[in-house]
This record gives sequence, structure tokens and C-alpha cells, in this order.
Amino acid sequence: MTDPYLPLLDSFDWSEEEREVIDTALAHDDPWDDGAPELRGIKEQLKLIKKRIQRFHLDRQGSTCCYCRTNLQGGGPFMIDREHILPKSKFRKLTYTISNLSVSCKRCNLQFKKNRIDFVVDPKTVEAKHDKSDQYLFAHPNFDHLDDLIERLSVQANRKVVVTYKVSNHPKATFTYEYFNLKELEVDSFQETQGGRSLDEVEQEVRMMLSLELQDRQAK
Ligand SMILES: [Zn+2]
Repeated sequence: MTDPYLPLLDSFDWSEEEREVIDTALAHDDPWDDGAPELRGIKEQLKLIKKRIQRFHLDRQGSTCCYCRTNLQGGGPFMIDREHILPKSKFRKLTYTISNLSVSCKRCNLQFKKNRIDFVVDPKTVEAKHDKSDQYLFAHPNFDHLDDLIERLSVQANRKVVVTYKVSNHPKATFTYEYFNLKELEVDSFQETQGGRSLDEVEQEVRMMLSLELQDRQAK
């Protein structure tokens, strides 16, 4: 299938040196743990490799969470997680597989995703077919185009915030919306009475507001 994001997964390549470092790490119980005493010799290289992975996936996801689309720009380690789609604790071999990695916010990863695998169609066969979208019940961060399934609109002016999701009828869209409890992230503090407004109505109002604001500034 076609890769929905840029840069393409296929464009990512490890150098020979990086590959050796990864092979060394994979020979250990916890290949991701650059603080492990047995990986001390390759600690710095592993850190650089992880940075490269994060930069690549932030570019692919436009610096947003791969599940909820929260903006991660400038978020740093307290906000951003390098996300293993099939958890590294259960699928060690895929720890450094670029298509099994993405970037997510801490909320989606630590509060909802954790080490669960109940988003997988068949846990027994998924490792061999990990690069197939149909093996996953939710929108896969690399093999599905989330924006085609769920649209997120968010606008903020100081303490006033609108966050709203438009969920398509696709089973993966509803599954993702519920799995990560995206409803909880929805807010409309521009409107006193919440709910009931369509995404189009909110969008129209916000666009109007922004253009008035812009006119105001140009007039000054
Ligand atoms: Zn998120």
C-alpha cells in the first residue's frame, strides 16, 4: 500500500555503523534501555539513533501525536514519547523497526496504550504481518492516514479553546476515537452551551474570528 506520510518510510536507512549498534542492542533483554549496564559501550550511539527516529517520525506526523493529533512542537521528553506501536516489551524484535515506531503524546501512550495489544486482530500472527494495516483495529500511525478517518480541528485564543473531532464511519475511526478516549479532549469554550455544533459551524466561526482579528491588526 502507499505510504500516507512524508518522508516515506522507505526513505529511512540505517548506516552500517548504526545497524551494528542496533544488532548489539537487540542481543540484550531490553534493547531500548540505553541506561542498561550491558549496553554502556553503545550508550551514546543508541541515544543518537533514538533522536534520529524521533526527528523522522515528528516530520511524518507534522509534530503532532500520531493518535490524538495534539500539537507536540517543542514538547520535549515530558510531553513526547517515541511510540512502539506493537509494544517493545512483547515484540522485542521490532524495537528498532522504523515502521513499528512513531511519536505520540504521553497521555495517549501512558494512559491508554500502555503495553496493551487489544488493538491487534490476532496477537499470534501479527509479528509476521506487522507491516499490514489490516492487522490493526485502530488507525496505524504508519499504514493508515489518520486524517482521512478522523479530523481534528483545534483553535486557541488565550484561555478560550476549541478542540473537536469529526469521526468518519470507518470502523478504524470509531475504534481509535474510543480506544484513546478522544471525546475527553473535546472542548468548546467559545460557546457557553457546549455541544450540538457541527465541525463546519465551529470552523466557520473560528475563521470569521481570525479574519476579524487580522483586519483589526492591519488597521492598527
Ligand atoms: Zn495523543
